[in-house]
Amino acid sequence: MLKSFDPSNGDLVGEVATTPAEDIDAIVADAHLAQKKWAKLNVTERVAILNSAYEDLAQQINPLAELLSREMGKDLRRSSGEVTGVAMGSPYTTDGVARAIQPKQIDGGMIEYVPLGVAAVISPWNYPLAMANNLIVPALIAGNSVVFKPSEETPLIAQAFAETLNRHLPSNVLQIVHGGRDLGKAIVEADVNIIAFTGSQAAGKDIMRRSASGLKRLVMELGGNDPMIVLPDADLKRAAQFAVASSFENAGQMCTSTERIYVHESVADRFETIVFDIAQRYQSGPWDQQGVNIGPIINNTQRGKVIDHIDDAISKGARVLLGGGDHPEHYVAPTVLADITPDMRMETEETFGPVVAISRYKDIDTAVDRANDSEFGLGAVVFGNKAAVEIGRRLEAGMIGINGGPGGGGDAPWVGAKQSGIGFHGSDDGHRQFTQVRVIG
Ligand code: NAD
Repeated sequence: MLKSFDPSNGDLVGEVATTPAEDIDAIVADAHLAQKKWAKLNVTERVAILNSAYEDLAQQINPLAELLSREMGKDLRRSSGEVTGVAMGSPYTTDGVARAIQPKQIDGGMIEYVPLGVAAVISPWNYPLAMANNLIVPALIAGNSVVFKPSEETPLIAQAFAETLNRHLPSNVLQIVHGGRDLGKAIVEADVNIIAFTGSQAAGKDIMRRSASGLKRLVMELGGNDPMIVLPDADLKRAAQFAVASSFENAGQMCTSTERIYVHESVADRFETIVFDIAQRYQSGPWDQQGVNIGPIINNTQRGKVIDHIDDAISKGARVLLGGGDHPEHYVAPTVLADITPDMRMETEETFGPVVAISRYKDIDTAVDRANDSEFGLGAVVFGNKAAVEIGRRLEAGMIGINGGPGGGGDAPWVGAKQSGIGFHGSDDGHRQFTQVRVIG
């Protein structure tokens, strides 16, 4: 059995049956059979089926949000937001995918977007519903069947989600399997046609290697180490509010959370003061405690890594503005560090914890160079007035936020540059990556 624990106290929340890796080939074979029938439905029929599943999900927002909180640790307001976003937002995505994959007339023929076959969807724990759903919706509407492996940290919420969808979908169009990374590897190596993955860079590289022999299609949304640049003419209060909120969001366990802040020396003292003022009001604790906005860290390994990054920075000369010392069991205390330097792990690696990490710069070229000196390129943010957009264009990232978070609203793609991903989802181009493009004429 795969056990699921409450990260705020280590108590058992529940368990599900683990899927033996030897069963994967038969599961994928069933998925191929189901896909052939699913693809025979027209896209309007597929949209109608999925939309009725989301109506069903919308009836269960409170119990699902509570389960998500218990299993993953984020507070109930954030869990409710995630479940609501999936239940209410997905019908827009189903329509968007349906539009994107309509055949297009060209001179002397047609461009068509046909299903690929079986999609493996492998997802992380930090937004356990949203991340899985972002990949499952386009895969299904495009006429693929799905073998879904959620994170071993959050199997229960994934199981509840899949059971709801499966009350509406034909049998075996969506199959959920449970296990850790070895099961993920077995799925990648099985007879699947596309692997849609959200998770760490290390796992992404392993998936790319394992899928090479079959030249399987890949959509991979990977880690980040997002920089933020604060220009001298920035609205400092807004910048500081964003810096703290983005660094602490989901206890820092967000792929586009701000990981490194470069602030011009002329405004750095004031920026640090406002950051401290805001940050010291944050409160960590379990999901059901009033006023909590920072939850536990998902597991001991991840918590140990965040604390190592903090200790490494302090040992190399970082100035502690908040926290940095004692961390309650299961948590990392909200921490603000200044004087971060390029030799610190916090600068070069994804920390994924509730830490605001501030550096000062004299000239903008140094700030841009340090922001770009990373193998990651997911999001980046610039706060400032006159030159903000121009500086933003110099940053090597897929999503650049100007005076706000990265990632456009509406139907913008969710896209990483460099080693933060390959392929992407969202937008017409993203939706079409779940299809084979075919030219007839
Ligand atoms: P992870 O890579 O450890 O695990 C993600 C999923 O992949 C899990 O289901 C896991 O069992 C499976 N897995 C692990 N190794 C595998 C392998 N070699 N082959 C196949 N499957 C494998 O990541 P995590 O700790 O669950 O999630 C945190 C990471 O995800 C962070 O790096 C974060 O930045 C990233 N993330 C990225 C985005 C994005 O949109 N770019 C969104 C959320 C999270």
